[in-house]
Amino acid sequence: MNIVRVALDLPLPRLFDYLAPDSDESDIGRRVTVPFGKASRTGVIVAIAAASEHPDGKLKSVTAILRDMPALPAEWLALCEFCARYYKTPLGEVTSFALPPMLRRGKLPRIRKPAADAAVAPAPTVDALPPLLPAQQAAVEAIAGVDGFHTLLLHGVTGSGKTEVYLRAIDAVLAGGGQALMLVPEIALTPQLEGRVAARFPGAHIVCANSGMADAARARGFIEALTGRAQIVLGTRLAVFMPLPRLQLIVVDEEHDASFKQQEGLRYSARDVAIWRAHQLNIPIVLGSATPSLETFHHASPRPAPPSPGGDIGSPRSGSGSLDGPALGSTKGISFGARPTGGGTGRYQMLELPERAVAEAMPVVRIIDTRREKLQEGLSAALLAGLQLRLERGEQSLVFLNRRGYAPVLACPPCGWISRCQRCAANLVLHLADGRLRCHHCGFETRVPRACPDCGNVDLLPFGRGTQRLEAMLVERFPEARVLRIDRDSASTPKKWQALLATIHAGEADILVGTQMLAKGHDFPLLTLVGVVGADAALFAADFRAPERLFAQLMQVGGRSGRAALPGEVLIQTEYPTHPLYQA
Ligand code: ADP
Ligand code: ZN
Ligand code: ZN
Repeated sequence: MNIVRVALDLPLPRLFDYLAPDSDESDIGRRVTVPFGKASRTGVIVAIAAASEHPDGKLKSVTAILRDMPALPAEWLALCEFCARYYKTPLGEVTSFALPPMLRRGKLPRIRKPAADAAVAPAPTVDALPPLLPAQQAAVEAIAGVDGFHTLLLHGVTGSGKTEVYLRAIDAVLAGGGQALMLVPEIALTPQLEGRVAARFPGAHIVCANSGMADAARARGFIEALTGRAQIVLGTRLAVFMPLPRLQLIVVDEEHDASFKQQEGLRYSARDVAIWRAHQLNIPIVLGSATPSLETFHHASPRPAPPSPGGDIGSPRSGSGSLDGPALGSTKGISFGARPTGGGTGRYQMLELPERAVAEAMPVVRIIDTRREKLQEGLSAALLAGLQLRLERGEQSLVFLNRRGYAPVLACPPCGWISRCQRCAANLVLHLADGRLRCHHCGFETRVPRACPDCGNVDLLPFGRGTQRLEAMLVERFPEARVLRIDRDSASTPKKWQALLATIHAGEADILVGTQMLAKGHDFPLLTLVGVVGADAALFAADFRAPERLFAQLMQVGGRSGRAALPGEVLIQTEYPTHPLYQA
């Protein structure tokens, strides 16, 4: 009697056995509907067995094995099993999460007839590509030269031509009949990027995958990947679970980005899972970033040379200390830059893109020591002068403050009351624009009290500074300037966000006040000054990744200034000017 072992979406770390007389090995990886309690559920068959540890008489029979789409491959099941083990999540919850909602429910999207693109694929790519820079060329060759599993870190600032390198590497994979998977952060999956990939591979079948897509489209993309029709899958973290029978290359762009880590349910890191998958498939994986995560940077830094007779620990590395791949430093033309000599593992290969592809100077960064200065509403004389100068020249400035609201807390100085959240351990942030106190952690909100709830004092004081307060101050200080605030409150919908971006691009704003929303992926040709205020808080935050994230944000926000013909300047206000983070 055949028995199928089914992974069901239940918070129980076990499989469920059902009788399925007509099943065979080819049903492993198929979806199956089964009775469960009074209800019916859909799961995935992960094994076929001849006997169950439960007596046969007690087993129920499957309702139906769904044979309307190809079985999920063994590699996909292995990936889910790894995640179940590693992230301590029942396998059924993992398989369920890894399937698009429609397939998870046992349904199937209407499949369009394969279009004519099958006939033209792999189609020739556009000709007339710009010649690669030497560092790009070296990176492309290093990736092409990889045989089997190898992790490469493409390290270069925004605009240094990383995407160009990914596209060349993907091109080579398509030419060989393979499939490529490119993971990007949530915020980076834009129509522009899709357009750039599609324009480069006009005949190729490209599938996008992200949680914002309509159910049917996502399920269709999944099936196209599974059947091998899709050649390139471009997606956010969940795309790491796309079944790809001919997968030959994985790219993780902005590998440090926090959105690759899911913070609820299956708490996976798509970057790490992607590396595991590449290892399992014995294929190369390229991680790209201007500000790699510390883990990645550590693995891409050389191992210290082993102490040798006649030498000491500080002697130069041998260049061949890697256990996990080709020797570091063996690829011609790649500069490793000045790396700390100690501490790395040398497991990844570092590929540096040291300059911007389109010649532009990097902005000048200046640290402003605010310890000895009386600030005006939080702004130093140097920053105020910088803003004034940009106004006179008709250029744009950005004041970066990664804290929305008016003030991070409302306080009663006489009695010591502060606005704490009733529902969690965070403080309530003062939003003066609509007279609310809001918890940015759990979402609780309430009206601003007229008087102190503890002592009745009516002189409650906002403590600290958020974007709304900074905006109010700048409006007062520079009455002739058009001040625009960009944060999650002012850009609460995609439509409002697009409108704000359009205003900036049209040159209809002089001073931008913004949070990290503004840091990524936008070119503002008129922007020549970035002022950073309130960054010190991240140095001492409870989250151990806060300084690392601050560094990435400063690099990104700094990169916003002076990207076109006008040179850029970055002024960072700090009370810790000698802190290694600012020095770096
Ligand atoms: P990144 O991904 O590092 O931000 P991109 O690959 O997007 O960099 O390159 C930045 C810009 O430079 C793009 O407009 C791209 O088309 C252009 N570019 C990249 N490589 C070259 C090259 N070798 N020659 C000329 N332009 C290039
Ligand atoms: Zn709260
Ligand atoms: Zn009080």
